[in-house]
Amino acid sequence: MFISFAQHLYSRLTKTLHAMNPTCIFCKIATGQAKATLLHQDDLVTAFRDIHPVAPTHILVIPNRHIESVNFVTPQDEPVLGRLFTVARHLAEQEGIAHSGYRIIVNTNADGGQTVFHLHMHVIGGQRMRYPMG
Ligand code: AMP
Repeated sequence: MFISFAQHLYSRLTKTLHAMNPTCIFCKIATGQAKATLLHQDDLVTAFRDIHPVAPTHILVIPNRHIESVNFVTPQDEPVLGRLFTVARHLAEQEGIAHSGYRIIVNTNADGGQTVFHLHMHVIGGQRMRYPMG
């Protein structure tokens, strides 16, 4: 009994560590090793406030598992990619911006303006935005 519980814990820990990049700030936030204002966490995704908000609401929704960017997504990631959207929708409602509107952005690599290489969805709202932006 004790051995099987220990095996279960060991297997959970190794799965988490394998899914994590030890130098990635968003992995650290998802695993509680770095601080952030968390708004949501479940088995697949974590959402927290952006540290440098560009609008009254600026939330990041990330997969818990380290995926470097959209360039690395696979069909196996489809459940987590769908969850990013349902959590974004829920948080937009919670923030009171669902009706007024908001923008979802996923930057990829240098030309896309990606600075943190752990896939993330920006959910930005609370002010009128123009498209395209610079
Ligand atoms: P991107 O340019 O799309 O890679 O966006 C990265 C975003 O992560 C930026 O908006 C940063 O302000 C935000 N960011 C970086 N480090 C943190 C952190 N420790 N906590 C919250 N947001 C962060």
